[in-house]
Amino acid sequence: MRILVVEDEPTLAAQLAEGIKSAGYVVDVAHNGIDGHFMGETEPYDAIVLDIGLPQMDGITVLKKWRASGQTLPVLILTARDTWREKVAGIDAGADDYLTKPFHMEELLARLRALIRRAGGHASTELVCGALTLDTRSSRASVDGAALTLTSHEYRVLAYLMHHQGEIVSRGELTEHIYAQDFDRDSNTVEVFIARLRKKLPPGLIETVRGLGYRLNRTQ
Ligand code: CA
Repeated sequence: MRILVVEDEPTLAAQLAEGIKSAGYVVDVAHNGIDGHFMGETEPYDAIVLDIGLPQMDGITVLKKWRASGQTLPVLILTARDTWREKVAGIDAGADDYLTKPFHMEELLARLRALIRRAGGHASTELVCGALTLDTRSSRASVDGAALTLTSHEYRVLAYLMHHQGEIVSRGELTEHIYAQDFDRDSNTVEVFIARLRKKLPPGLIETVRGLGYRLNRTQ
């Protein structure tokens, strides 16, 4: 899953990127409202963390513009303390959740998990597909209770497929959701990750849909 962080304060932006990465996501960071708005409009994120007090274009305006253009993905806003008006304005502008600064990284991660889960229509932090279970809290996967050892890339591929189980996911879509923007992407590597995952998973769980992509088979 790929997350956009829009935060102008350099230390906080770096802490957010580090914390979110360590939870198994890939992260892009924008440091002002104009860049943030552009990236949110043009790159396929799974959720966005948006500061309200931003240079060049404030967070409420950024959010309103995204929503006006039909962008539906989950947005969590960061507000300053004692600014209830900001929270109201943010929620009215289309925010799905908010956190007041300062906050604990664990709370931010829990709220992000919940937003991504709800966006995919999943009720639990544990995603299940046949014998396979993915615990989004611990970023671990298991088959029939036996833990799988996955590289970070394998985990990201599997997590994206688990959030979209039963759907056909193209190689290009997977590539866009497992790499950050500045990464030198090669969609052929997705095939390599899929091949490695198949060796660790029950046979037939990851189907190839010829010419279209992959699908997690719920009936396996
Ligand atoms: Ca700020």
